[in-house]
Amino acid sequence: MFNKRIKIKELLAQEPTGQEVTVMGWVRTFRNNQFIALNDGSTNNNLQVVAGLGKFDDELLKRITTSASLKVTGAIVPSLGKGQKMDMNATSIEILGDSDAEKYPLQPKKHSLEFLREIAHLRFRTNTFGSVFRVRHSLAFAIHKFFNDKGFVYMHTPIITASDAEGAGEMFRVTTLPFDEKNEKTPRNEDGSINFKEDFFGRATNLTVSGQLEGELGATAFGEIYTFGPTFRAENSNTARHLAEFWMIEPEMAFCDLEDNANLAEEFIKYLIQYAMNNNREDLEFLAQRLSDEEKQLPQDKRSEMGLMEKLEFVLTNNFERLTYTEAIDILKESNHNKKKKFQYEITGWGMDLQSEHERFLVEKHFKKPVILTNYPAAIKSFYMRLNEDGKTVAAMDILAPGIGEIVGGSQREERLDKLEDRMKEMNIPAEELWWYMDTRRFGTVPHAGFGLGFERMVQFVTGMTNIRDVIAFPRTPKSAEF
Ligand code: ATP
Ligand code: MN
Repeated sequence: MFNKRIKIKELLAQEPTGQEVTVMGWVRTFRNNQFIALNDGSTNNNLQVVAGLGKFDDELLKRITTSASLKVTGAIVPSLGKGQKMDMNATSIEILGDSDAEKYPLQPKKHSLEFLREIAHLRFRTNTFGSVFRVRHSLAFAIHKFFNDKGFVYMHTPIITASDAEGAGEMFRVTTLPFDEKNEKTPRNEDGSINFKEDFFGRATNLTVSGQLEGELGATAFGEIYTFGPTFRAENSNTARHLAEFWMIEPEMAFCDLEDNANLAEEFIKYLIQYAMNNNREDLEFLAQRLSDEEKQLPQDKRSEMGLMEKLEFVLTNNFERLTYTEAIDILKESNHNKKKKFQYEITGWGMDLQSEHERFLVEKHFKKPVILTNYPAAIKSFYMRLNEDGKTVAAMDILAPGIGEIVGGSQREERLDKLEDRMKEMNIPAEELWWYMDTRRFGTVPHAGFGLGFERMVQFVTGMTNIRDVIAFPRTPKSAEF
């Protein structure tokens, strides 16, 4: 058996009593031809391996270069040096893979996040990305634990869909047709448009923008379901919080109204934060330090008022602020910020869609904590949201987080068939194509609600990473799909 090793994280938690162990990992640094900092990805903390002078031949020592991979066996003893509690006195060093230090792009110095994005295939070997992706893993695990413990059924909704009813941003088309304007072989209708009846699925298909509609089918059978999968949006927005491929968690609950929905979303977000604080403290403390160093470059008024740990603690211990869209518009209108004409997009009044600068003002300047905005004008929200008594707002909710903006979008769904049909007509949504969706309203309809949490935005919030490209392994954004 090859892999009889102990992970460095587990080893560092032990007391050094001379125990003989084997570790494997990659060289971070090699000092004085004697001290190897070895990292195996289980933690940012390296094991200091001591290659005692005269014990190993020069040929071998020369091959211990940055990022070479090693298998090392030795005794674990209290460290004589400062900064670590233990050393490994190596008795055997085997080079598993050489690494040409001249060509290796990661040097033992600080690299910019922009540079690291260009070498995303290697960036996991840095402390920052080690921490980010261990936290991302933890959060993914915690999501399943949260819903499983509550008896939700994990539902895998399709990635290829025919429904473009949601209308959330642009879609990526999925096709096997020979596709180019002039191609004679491309099947066309008489008017010259593409004939998708000839396509693989016999109809036009896209990558999903949301699993919600299918999720509703699950909720009206299992009671409570959640999805957790990739979502695609061909929106051409080059921002620090939009990806073309991102992961979304979408719970959908029968017998649930808007308030139940908001309660669950708040509990869920707090659970995830708590989970990371309990299980990833070391990585979070590293990321907190990283963020504070990054912010030192910024002018005073652009820096966060709280450190990362403080912020997470604060979110855990305070209720999210809940208010209606109408109340939010009043606050924005009355704000000095607005009176001094500091918004780029003017507050025109009730009915307007909120821009991210408005959301950020509410969250970061006015309330200084996460905010749940509810009951938006029907005209600016999707067709499936439940019409309120007033006949002009719908039971929608967005959760806005400091530094991130919208992190959750959700609603109570319109369960009344006639009202749903009216709205679809108004919004030009073809009800015939959604016959299967409408059936849930025909056969035992129930009040139900759900929301979508953008996973990467949640990871951003917990890790304090300011660009969404740095919390997904291989970001897909306009004009960029390397690796
Ligand atoms: P935004 O206004 O920020 O573009 P949205 O209104 O399009 O968001 P929804 O359609 O409600 O968002 O999607 C639900 C959640 O998915 C959002 O609250 C957000 O967390 C996440 N999300 C949406 N679009 C993206 C994207 N392009 N990249 C990453 N996450 C996204
Ligand atoms: Mn969007």
